[in-house]
Amino acid sequence: MADGKTYPNTQLLIDGEWRDGVEGRTIPVLDPATGEKIGTVAHATRADLDAALAAVDRGFKVWRATSAYERSKVMRKAAELLRKRAGEIAKMMTREQGKPVGEATMEVMAGADIIDWFAEEARRTYGQIIPARMPGVTQMAFKLPVGPVAAFTPWNFPINQVVRKLSAAIAAGCSIIVKAPEETPASPAELIRAFVDAGVPAGVINLVYGVPAEISEYLIPHPVIRKISFTGSTPVGKQLAALAAQHMKLSTMELGGHAPAIIFEDADLDNAVKVLAGSKFRNAGQVCVSPTRFLVQEGVYHEVVDAFTEAAKAIKVGSGFEEGTQMGPLANERRIPALEALIQDAVDHGAELKTGGRRIGNVGNFFEPTVLSNVPKTARIMNEEPFGPVAVFSPFSTLDEVIDEANRLPFGLASYAFTGSANTAQQLGVRIEAGMTSINHNGLALPEVPFGGIKDSGYGTEGGSEAINAYLVTKFVTNASP
Ligand code: NAD
Repeated sequence: MADGKTYPNTQLLIDGEWRDGVEGRTIPVLDPATGEKIGTVAHATRADLDAALAAVDRGFKVWRATSAYERSKVMRKAAELLRKRAGEIAKMMTREQGKPVGEATMEVMAGADIIDWFAEEARRTYGQIIPARMPGVTQMAFKLPVGPVAAFTPWNFPINQVVRKLSAAIAAGCSIIVKAPEETPASPAELIRAFVDAGVPAGVINLVYGVPAEISEYLIPHPVIRKISFTGSTPVGKQLAALAAQHMKLSTMELGGHAPAIIFEDADLDNAVKVLAGSKFRNAGQVCVSPTRFLVQEGVYHEVVDAFTEAAKAIKVGSGFEEGTQMGPLANERRIPALEALIQDAVDHGAELKTGGRRIGNVGNFFEPTVLSNVPKTARIMNEEPFGPVAVFSPFSTLDEVIDEANRLPFGLASYAFTGSANTAQQLGVRIEAGMTSINHNGLALPEVPFGGIKDSGYGTEGGSEAINAYLVTKFVTNASP
């Protein structure tokens, strides 16, 4: 187990066995705070995927025949194990992903809450009895597990992104192959270990790593797989959704965003700045629901930009293991040139760099919390997801104007607004085209509330009472008494 210094080599889980890939290949894992290699992850090749497919097929037959009550019990035990192991797992996550240990611990604990939520949902997968037209006929609609699932998850929330898919699938009675992130492999493996140790039978959960495109291109069309769930960027999501559609597979797509954060003159400005600065720089902005386009009403524009800039300057950036660190390094080195290019482009378009804008030092992927003001719509960063610690400000005058701006982009994931007016809040709730709108606080992503996007941000919800439906099909049975 990791103590911040040691870090495990991660294996595949196939048919209940933790093992290396048949060809013995591995992928290096780097510490984003130092750039050093800290371990490896096993690289699955075609033979491993075939073994995982055979296992997930067998696992489905076992698990769908296990009662919902029993599934729920095993899941609650997995949640307990995860809570007990949270301290160790959080350190592993910080080592491979960079986020502060406190944030990593919260992610693990929130993962346990998500497992508990879906464990409860397992026992509520009710069907219907439909009144029949004929005497002696009983019409029933059952909710049944859709079948083996292939899930693809990214590196920004190594546990959270897996646990939503895994828990919903397992609760519904599905089996699953998880393709977890190669950059951050150890903490999702520990999540899955909690399920295995809790008693999930062999083959029900399988875990692979490798070349993402090779794995998705093989698993999605494969006849054993009945359902796909992907979290990642919109371009990749569109490719995978097209492949799934070609093979008539159900899919859930949790994709990129470009969240508007709207601040009106009548808002509690201190609260707005405090909540939004916390949300913006959490996980170094590598969050699909991160507030990105800060739209501030003219009368308070300068006051808000200045207060937010001060809040950004006060963020303590450093190793996730250091006491008091509020923001760790970016998880991948490739995000540094991507962010620098977006910031330079904004400045070239006339934006004012209020603070930040550069890499910090030359060891690790540390980046300054950045604020850009008066950014024109033509700048790339007003149109592309920065996925980093950059807040982009521009002023507006009227409600209609700001709603048009909020809805201008093809994304529709999260949105935020701060206002003292009940009428404005009501209008925003209805008129902003997004899967989620959080007004006067950040209230997103709890297990019991919907979590998902619309438009180019994808489809399907991964939270709340509808989430389990993504892993269920409706079977109609009509029965005339003999
Ligand atoms: P990327 O598009 O290369 O990869 C995003 C994720 O998709 C990664 O986990 C990757 O392993 C996976 N992936 C890529 N191609 C795949 C394929 N053909 N089949 C299956 N999985 C595949 O981008 P990146 O550099 O890793 O991340 C940057 C961008 O990704 C961001 O701008 C953001 O839009 C998006 N992203 C979104 C989320 C999210 O929570 N929605 C998480 C991580 C990344």
